[in-house]
Amino acid sequence: MAVAGAQQKCGARTKSTGRPCKNAVMKGTSRCRKHQGEWSPQGVLDRRQRELDDAKRKLAKARRK
Ligand SMILES: [Zn+2]
Repeated sequence: MAVAGAQQKCGARTKSTGRPCKNAVMKGTSRCRKHQGEWSPQGVLDRRQRELDDAKRKLAKARRK
């Protein structure tokens, strides 16, 4: 049986108010979608994508010379 309200709340402080963010956390993390940070599964994916884009851009630049 699922327990209502058992999902953890994000404890990150919001920059604007300084109060804890009370959004429900993402599965497998201790932060909500907004505050999951760069080491969350999604953050790692985002960064990998950014690095790929950077590498492609550098390659394209190098070839043009
Ligand atoms: Zn949060």
